[in-house]
This record gives sequence, C-alpha cells and structure tokens, in this order.
Amino acid sequence: MKLTEKQEEIFSRQILMKNIGEEGQLKLLKAKVLVVGCGGLGAPVLLYLTAMGIGHLGLCDNDTVALSNLNRQVLFTPNDVGKSKALTAQKRLKTLNPTLETTAYNQTMDEKLAKSIVQDYDIVLDCLDNFDTRFILGDACLELDKPLIHAGVDEFYGQLMTIIPGKSPCLRCLFPDGLIKEKRNKTFGIIGTTPAILGSMQAMEAAKYILGLKVFSNGLMTYDGLEQTLDKVEIIANPICLCRRG
Ligand SMILES: [Zn+2]
Repeated sequence: MKLTEKQEEIFSRQILMKNIGEEGQLKLLKAKVLVVGCGGLGAPVLLYLTAMGIGHLGLCDNDTVALSNLNRQVLFTPNDVGKSKALTAQKRLKTLNPTLETTAYNQTMDEKLAKSIVQDYDIVLDCLDNFDTRFILGDACLELDKPLIHAGVDEFYGQLMTIIPGKSPCLRCLFPDGLIKEKRNKTFGIIGTTPAILGSMQAMEAAKYILGLKVFSNGLMTYDGLEQTLDKVEIIANPICLCRRG
C-alpha cells in the first residue's frame, strides 16, 4: 500500500512529524477502529480519527438524534433530529473523507454483537454513556485480546483509561459495584466542551497506539474542567479480577 499524491498532501503536516512520517501515516490508513457510541464523546473521536486518516471506522449506536444532544454532539444538525446516529454520522464522515471505509451498526452493543464484531478491529473506543454496556464491551475486549480506550464525562469532569489486555488493570478493577449502581443510567448535566476534550484525548491515545507510541495504560487520567487540571492515577489490578485470569 502506498499513499496517493492527494493523501501525501492532506496528511503532509503529520508526515512531517518524526513520530509519524509516511510509514506512520500508512499505519493509520491500514487501521480499523471500532467506536462504540456516536454521541458527545463519539463526535470528536470520529471527526478526528477521520481527519487524521484512519482507514476504516466501525460506528455503533442504536440511538436517534434529539434536540438536547446538539450542545455537544457536533456531528449532527437540527435537520438530523429523529435520524439514526450511526447512519447520520457515517454519512457526515464520508463528506470529510470520501475514501474512508465505514461499517455502521445501528443497534445496541450487547454481548452477542460485541463477540461478533470486536474481533474485526485493531482497537476499540468506549464512547458510551452507561456502565452496563461498558462492562459488556470491556469483557469482550479482554476475551478477544483487543485494546480498549475508555472515556467517561459528567458536567465539567472526565476520565480516560487505556486498557491493554494482559498488561493493564480493567474497568472492573477500577469501579466497585456500589458506585456504579448509584450513578447508573441517570441523566446528568454536561457542558459541550467536556466530551470535546476527553474525546480528543481518546482519539490521541488511539492514534499513538496504532503508531506504536507510548500510551498511558496502567491507570486512570482524570480531567477537571473547573480547575483545568489533568491528573494521572496509577491503578493496581485486582488479582482476582477477570482481567488477571487466563
Ligand atoms: Zn480487572
């Protein structure tokens, strides 16, 4: 595979980087990335992965666009209200890069779907809004040995975690059940820029992983938009957790 003249020009600023070059740009072009959730986090993730030249994107979301999404889900316009998020996002991304390959899954991410599609991708991005689905996706990634980049947002706060199977602690190591039940599926407030920041960080981690550069894979990054601080907390894997078996 070689870059076309047009691709050389589109991605010239990345090719100029010593950590990318033509070789790195080709790695991005060959990569297949699955993005689960095409909402607030999914929007910057999908826009930037497309702009950076990822070759194939899987888009999974069973939801439709609502007016209350538009403060942060910048893939969509008021004309998209009522339409499928996965299919609308797919169409929008194709206008940014007509050669992008996409597969849209206009359905709920459940155990069956996770087990049948995760294996087709190099890396998976959790852009979800609930922990039930996050655990299903996280378990499938562990089982199928696929790296997962998790992000979550709430008001001015966000978190990010890159999970490399066999190396990193996982979501189950991190969250005690009680905490999850308490916050589960509650509608929460969110300012549009919080998922913009966390989603961009997810896309950055994904690109670095594909390029073979160092990712933060042994803990949790937490972002506080009120204080504009970013902290890294190392997490020790729970020795009896699913991620330590097999
Ligand atoms: Zn674990």
